[in-house]
Amino acid sequence: MSGQGRITDVPGIGKKSAAELDVLGIHTLLDMVRFPPRTYDDRRDERLLSDTSPENPSIACRITVLSHSQFPSKRSGMTLKAVCEDDEGRRIELLCFNRPFLKDMLKLGSSWYITSSAVERGRNGVYSTASFELKRTKTEAGIGRILPVYPLTGSITEKMLRNASAFALEVLSPFPDELPEGIYQRLSLMHHDDAYRKIHYPSDDNDIKEARRTLAFTELFLMELSVLRERKGGEKNRGTITTSEKKLIASLPFSLTDDQLKAAMEIRSDLDSGTPMNRLLQGDVGSGKTLVAWIVALHEIAKGHQVAFMAPTELLARQHAEGASALLSSLGIRIAFLTGNVKGQGRRLLLESLRNGTTDLVVGTHALFSEDVSFRNLKLVIIDEQHRFGVQQREALKAKGMETSILSMTATPIPRTLALTLFADLDVSTLHTMPSGRIPVRTYLVSDEKRDDMYKSIAVEFQRGHQAYFVYPRIDDEGESSLRDVTHMHEVLRNKYPGIPSALIHSKLPEEEKIRILHDFREKKIMYLVATSVVEVGIDIPDATCMVIEHADIFGLAALHQLRGRVGRSTLPSYCFLVFGRALSQEAKARLSVMKETNDGFRIAEKDLEIRGPGEIAGDRQSGFLKLRFASLTSDLDLIELARAEAERIAKEDPGLLSLENAPVRKALKEKN
Ligand code: ADP
Ligand code: MG
Repeated sequence: MSGQGRITDVPGIGKKSAAELDVLGIHTLLDMVRFPPRTYDDRRDERLLSDTSPENPSIACRITVLSHSQFPSKRSGMTLKAVCEDDEGRRIELLCFNRPFLKDMLKLGSSWYITSSAVERGRNGVYSTASFELKRTKTEAGIGRILPVYPLTGSITEKMLRNASAFALEVLSPFPDELPEGIYQRLSLMHHDDAYRKIHYPSDDNDIKEARRTLAFTELFLMELSVLRERKGGEKNRGTITTSEKKLIASLPFSLTDDQLKAAMEIRSDLDSGTPMNRLLQGDVGSGKTLVAWIVALHEIAKGHQVAFMAPTELLARQHAEGASALLSSLGIRIAFLTGNVKGQGRRLLLESLRNGTTDLVVGTHALFSEDVSFRNLKLVIIDEQHRFGVQQREALKAKGMETSILSMTATPIPRTLALTLFADLDVSTLHTMPSGRIPVRTYLVSDEKRDDMYKSIAVEFQRGHQAYFVYPRIDDEGESSLRDVTHMHEVLRNKYPGIPSALIHSKLPEEEKIRILHDFREKKIMYLVATSVVEVGIDIPDATCMVIEHADIFGLAALHQLRGRVGRSTLPSYCFLVFGRALSQEAKARLSVMKETNDGFRIAEKDLEIRGPGEIAGDRQSGFLKLRFASLTSDLDLIELARAEAERIAKEDPGLLSLENAPVRKALKEKN
């Protein structure tokens, strides 16, 4: 097989078509072979005139010409009308506008194979069509076959692409194996020569299924393998808990969940392995990721290293700095807090302490990695809510040229399919279980008319000393319209709940003000916050039990789940109210009912993937990785797992792909890069 054949080698495809095919990513004949049909046109069965219906006015059968006549057409020229009958004797009129010359071809008594998808039936019961193709033989007409249907662009037609795929298959075959023989056998896959032919020209549904399975598997397998091979190995030994970690754990008012302990151990053994770690810690909102971070930070600090903890907002960074100092100061850990707002002499001293190593742990925003910051011995960077950071920020970190380990934390659970593919270069630790005693948040969908009941039940919560959030969407970056909304609603709520202290919080407030408000909220000097989505990530106030989300229908699932995660963070029962206006779109309905159905972030992420598609969710990492042609991230979990397992086995047994058995894989990988 030669991949060199250009698509312009196909008869009938010239420069102009080639330019259009460029959009579809088809440049070579091999590209054409690897271009999957969108669906298929099943022409196995003949369709006679009696098979047509208004829903499916198509025929594919033999007809015989009975008579013709010609008449001037309305617009110009002559029209030929040929009356034909099918094998059941039903009659159809073929209207050949401006094609009187067809008369010579359609000799009386001659037989043709006709395909048409636009047969009309007049009031008099007579069938007719002006759009049809006539062929001499059944095969030429594609009758008795399943034909591929490709996605089209510009002036490219199905006929051209069918022509091109048939040509490319013929010129390039036989196609060599792309997998080791052992894998074909073990997984009962088709050999590639078969698979490529059958994905375009199957003889039955099973062919389609099996060819797709093979090609999807191959795609996933090669992707997993190339990522695994890039990842540096390193045997991992599991250490034991050190004294300072034990002290920290002993000082907690609760015990660690099994998952927290397991994740901490996994991370620690990575950190001790000698190669920089790149690990993702995922766990649903409220699952207790921060504590795992402090435990492993202690572990690094005990080795004499520095640790940086980065949060996406100043508010969150502040909360974490306070948390860290409450837990870790007594263990002799020297903690600093750094954001863009730390200036002047304070900043100079702080930067000096990072440089000379008198600070062990620094908590802050992305300002941690600004130009003027340098470290003495930074070995671990923990990134909280990593999905909030852009690639640039992560790149900036790398550009510092530090041989640091990275622990990324996220509460936006990544569906397994995505985690296994997109993040194949990361190790993943997962907190599946919530700390014990948590009661799932109860979620209510509240239409505008039911508002009053909601206000009443929240009043009861206030009497119990519990707190609430009222959240309004930030509609645009300016936020003016929604700001007016919060201000107005704050008035409304103050009238509803006279004497209950409250505050308005949004991103336009000065940072100091926000911090003061959140501090007062934590101290219960404030009982409810009226907020824009600034409270979305990370904020941890255990006694807040009510989350009201207004205009819930315009929030995305991930945001709704994050917001709901602000409550249910203790052993108190808590409530989430999703308030919506009248006209809900299909999608909005789908989102809200998912929220009502489940609290499970993983289920929600899967649903999100179904509703929005992988591109959106994957965000930054999307490029390159997700150009899957045959495999689907929403429905091929089984295949992804198989591919991962096979790739891991091969990466371990034959990392250089040097064995004869693996030669096809080496070749296929090379071709991809
Ligand atoms: P997230 O995973 O969303 O970042 P946090 O780390 O903010 O969650 O933890 C949520 C809350 O649960 C915090 O108040 C924390 O102190 C508490 N918590 C963490 N681990 C446990 C545990 N094992 N048992 C009980 N509460 C815990
Ligand atoms: Mg968190």
